Amino acid sequence: MAARGRSLGGMRGLATVPSYVVMQPTTLCNLDCAYCYLPFRAADRQMPVAVAEAVAASVNRWASTDRFSVVWHGGEPLAAGRERLAELMAPFGPEVEHHVQTNATLIDDAWCEFFARHRMRVSVSVDGPRDRNGERVTRAGRPAYDRIVRGVAALRRHGLPFSALAVVNDPSPGRATELYDYFLDLGCEVLGVNIEETEGVNTRDNAHEAPVVTAFWAELVAAWRRNPRIHLREVEWSLRYAAAVLDGTAGDLLPTRLDPIPTVAYDGSVVVLSPELAGFTDPRYGDFSSGSVLATPLHTILADAERTPWVGEFIDGVEACRSSCPYFGFCGGGHAANRYFELGRFDGTETEHCRNSKIRLLEGVLEHARDHQSPGA
Ligand code: SF4
Repeated sequence: MAARGRSLGGMRGLATVPSYVVMQPTTLCNLDCAYCYLPFRAADRQMPVAVAEAVAASVNRWASTDRFSVVWHGGEPLAAGRERLAELMAPFGPEVEHHVQTNATLIDDAWCEFFARHRMRVSVSVDGPRDRNGERVTRAGRPAYDRIVRGVAALRRHGLPFSALAVVNDPSPGRATELYDYFLDLGCEVLGVNIEETEGVNTRDNAHEAPVVTAFWAELVAAWRRNPRIHLREVEWSLRYAAAVLDGTAGDLLPTRLDPIPTVAYDGSVVVLSPELAGFTDPRYGDFSSGSVLATPLHTILADAERTPWVGEFIDGVEACRSSCPYFGFCGGGHAANRYFELGRFDGTETEHCRNSKIRLLEGVLEHARDHQSPGA
């Protein structure tokens, strides 16, 4: 089913206009989850308004011609406080869509009114039922689950739609069904599922037996098909790809150039492709930054981003994937941070992450389809 990578034309290098920008209003997080990748989550380094103004100068131009999003991501973005976040959002024009990725523990009525007033779309991080959230703890080491659920209840009370993001560290049989049923009850509109990744300061092994991970994804598809009320991000993308392969249009699915997904750190430095690299340094690659918006406009930084040495190496890695991996048309070459944190460089190809979350995902969706084929089909 996977279309051979080398038959896919098109995608070459980085686009100069992103589809969204990630902003880090503070490095601080009020939780201390065991699998978190963030290096400075105990420190409260706040973004000055001058950084937001500089980013908005480019974003407002892009948003005047196309749909454009700013994603507020931390640390825990709500830890910056409503007043601060409002000041940082103020330079962006009314056509810019604002999203926030939050652990939900700080959400209360006042935050819900803020989200409604700013038409902010909310995505909460929660890993499933209480027992699956044991790794999500406060700075004092206490379970955060009750606070997460209280925050979600506030969203529901205010009639605010929300997405959810779940990390799975044990994809054993039964987990996918449990997970999907939980999120049906929670009431989210969109669900993203990540198998835990080895990245940033999280060095835990993420290798799993291939049949176990494939079966996890197949089970998730089965659960979803019984009640497809939630948009299940990974599964819907897989099904779109499968349909395009059958139609002979799979080569058109990938964008012609990689979305640079710039992350603007609290201090204005810009890291492209992988938010997870922000805040790290390496003797070979430096701080991974392509520049600072306090010195150079964001659109100029992005126009030159391919010259950042590690970015060039990553593009070589994407080309290596294109010529060697049968899953390239589905995956597009994976994520820079996974290559770096697993392989120590950017021009390698397969990682545990891409096995867990690309290869086994597609295999799982196809396994489900095979198991449910009618005998006469
Ligand atoms: S990242 Fe992995 S799945 Fe994706 S194209 Fe490269 S080798 Fe294939």
